[in-house]
Amino acid sequence: MFDKGIIAKLKQKGLTGRGGAGFPTWQKWEAVKNIQADKRYIVCNASEGEPFILKDKYILENYPEEVIYGLKIALKAIPKSEAIIYLNEFYYQQFKNKLEKLIAASPITLFSKPGGYLKGEETTLLNIIEGEKAEPRVKPPYPTEKGLWGKPTLINNVETFYWISKIAKNEYQGHRFYSIEGEVKNRGVFELPETYTIKQILEQTGNYPNFSFFLQVGGGASGAIMTPNELDQPIKGAGAILVFNKQNTDPLQLMAGWAEFFIRENCDQCTPCREGVYRLKEALAKGEIKKEAIDEVLLALEKTSFCPLGKSISTPFKTALQKLF
Ligand code: SF4
Repeated sequence: MFDKGIIAKLKQKGLTGRGGAGFPTWQKWEAVKNIQADKRYIVCNASEGEPFILKDKYILENYPEEVIYGLKIALKAIPKSEAIIYLNEFYYQQFKNKLEKLIAASPITLFSKPGGYLKGEETTLLNIIEGEKAEPRVKPPYPTEKGLWGKPTLINNVETFYWISKIAKNEYQGHRFYSIEGEVKNRGVFELPETYTIKQILEQTGNYPNFSFFLQVGGGASGAIMTPNELDQPIKGAGAILVFNKQNTDPLQLMAGWAEFFIRENCDQCTPCREGVYRLKEALAKGEIKKEAIDEVLLALEKTSFCPLGKSISTPFKTALQKLF
């Protein structure tokens, strides 16, 4: 049966959201539960739109019943609530049948619209469900106070609901999922302790390179570039490791790829991001790196972008400029 003390358990286990931001899960749950409201929503974010992050897909493929159990626990813990699973279009096609069987006769529904990186941002996702333009909202108010249709809304991603299920069943051992991609022997998704360092993760999965390499850690677009002497630390954010062979990777091309990605994925709502990513693309197309000019654009993105996507763009470029040139 469902555990009434689940929020206390989430707090005790120190579970943080596994979508990237790493916010303490219990705090969100408590905020949504305690606010006065005649209706509340719970959203399971299965939009996973950043390149090389595939862990939510892996979980939906292998453990969908755990995710649904986690959602059902949330429905019990949060009064007057109903739940929506927001899937990107590919995951919707792939998992619809399986999920529909699992949510039958429950207040959980499926929702899908074409996916993308920005569509995983929580307020953008709410706008899309409401049929509004796919762009972020001003925060505050946060979704926990005023989310879907103005009601308090709890948003956690697929992996977070998976671990909530494990915590409720007393099966949680402080693990998380890691996506490992790039020039490695064993690509895929692996479950390992969250305290493991990047080096341990690569070694344990048989993926520590025997060539000169660098990594992108945290996501295939927004992740930070890291060199082999920085690997004695655990991973923050979305838990993705991408391995590059130094000999056959052109850093300029890599950065140009990120610029293209962010041009495609930004929502055009604010000038620093909309213009900034074009300026980055132009600067890289010249084939020579003028660090000062690029640094100026990155600073503007970091300090004046409206939403987390714009702010996060500086991380890969900044770390690549510092470490690969
Ligand atoms: S930072 Fe980029 S993605 Fe975010 S609101 Fe501005 S244009 Fe849109």
